[in-house]
Amino acid sequence: MESIVERVQEYLEKIEKSSINAYIEIDKDRVLKEGEDLEKNEKLKKKPLYGKIIGVKSNINVKGYTISCASKTLENYISPYDATVIKKIKSQGGLIIGMTNMDEFACGSSGETSYYGATKNPRAEGKIPGGSSSGSAAAISANLCDMALGSDTGGSIRNPASHCGVVGFKPSYGVVSRQGLCDLAMSFDQIGPLTKNAKDALLLTNIIKGKDISDSTTVDTPKFEIKKEEEMKNYKIGIVKEFMEVSDEKIRDRIEKGIEVFRDLGWEIVELNYKYTDLALPTYYLINYVEFFSATRRYDGRRYGYPIEDVCGEEVLRRILIGEHISGKEFSGKYYKKALQARRMMKMEMLKLFKDVDAIVSPTVPKIPHNIGEELTPMEMYAYDVLTVPTNICGMCAGVVGCGDINGIPVGLQIQGKPFDDEKILNIMIIFEEIFSNDENDN
Ligand code: GLN
Repeated sequence: MESIVERVQEYLEKIEKSSINAYIEIDKDRVLKEGEDLEKNEKLKKKPLYGKIIGVKSNINVKGYTISCASKTLENYISPYDATVIKKIKSQGGLIIGMTNMDEFACGSSGETSYYGATKNPRAEGKIPGGSSSGSAAAISANLCDMALGSDTGGSIRNPASHCGVVGFKPSYGVVSRQGLCDLAMSFDQIGPLTKNAKDALLLTNIIKGKDISDSTTVDTPKFEIKKEEEMKNYKIGIVKEFMEVSDEKIRDRIEKGIEVFRDLGWEIVELNYKYTDLALPTYYLINYVEFFSATRRYDGRRYGYPIEDVCGEEVLRRILIGEHISGKEFSGKYYKKALQARRMMKMEMLKLFKDVDAIVSPTVPKIPHNIGEELTPMEMYAYDVLTVPTNICGMCAGVVGCGDINGIPVGLQIQGKPFDDEKILNIMIIFEEIFSNDENDN
């Protein structure tokens, strides 16, 4: 068995040689020292995360690292504390290897808007890796760490997991503490794992979840257990017609192959309609702009770095300006209130669908990813999110597992569950992954 330090060394060497730009900060001496300390720590040896080497998205506070959110705004902000999730990881024997690249302030779906340069897709040369947790997904995909943390406001864990061919899980809102996460839109944001397999996603979610007095939206949930196939009999899987219709035909074909796995398990496949699919993007982006505008007011240059508007990129500025405009007094919250109303409707309708099914399965991203550097309009970029934002709008959980590829470009199957059905969804991911990868190997 290799020692922790040897494994760290191997990862560090690979990171140094790699050209995918997955990490934006690595402190070799620090990680090696922390690895040595961990090896000497008898108390931590029995912990479930002992010796796991973890990459962390650059919007989650890790003491002593630069929490830049991949923006020039915070390029000199060294974190004075550990986020709750980081404290938990460390207390269970995990080792943080460094800070991963991302879209600036998590605003994006392509991994291209980082102040530190685009992340590259390790699986599909020239293609975007997806975003905004681009570096965490790419690092897992290129085997540059054991596990990673991302954040998901409207798909930022699931979208890059899909494009990079790794597993990603967005917990239900309130399962994981947001304390120490830099807000994008706080009523949507959740931290979650990006991993090499679904069992690891369950393991890491178990470690980071739990009620936290410093995040009043959190609740306690019982430990998520791995279930046997017999315990998952007669599940019903919903397929939403509108989610399939907005998706590219080739992606749809892949997902239909994936759905066969559930059929073969003897589970019933139920066709559903979600009549508010068209409301997803306008509702999400309106709320996102308003909440993001408010969150960025602290970046006025007095306490943290530079005034954000002076140094940020185009997409961040767009959101701040629109957010400011629609928050204006003259509108007295008109747009925001409308969006909240739509959000309530969307959630009610979605919960109705879950009366008949255990999970809803769909593509993760409806389009094939573009080439890095290709110009997209904001609307084209936002269109990538139509199948991921409903989860956040409704406070649900959702995971992504590999479902093959289209000419080498990975496609992830998305499995959504109702709020607090996280254990069930993680188990469906585990069983899907097991059967699907066996089937693929047979072919
Ligand atoms: N692409 C979406 C956005 O730009 C989601 C981002 C995220 O989940 N952080 O807002």
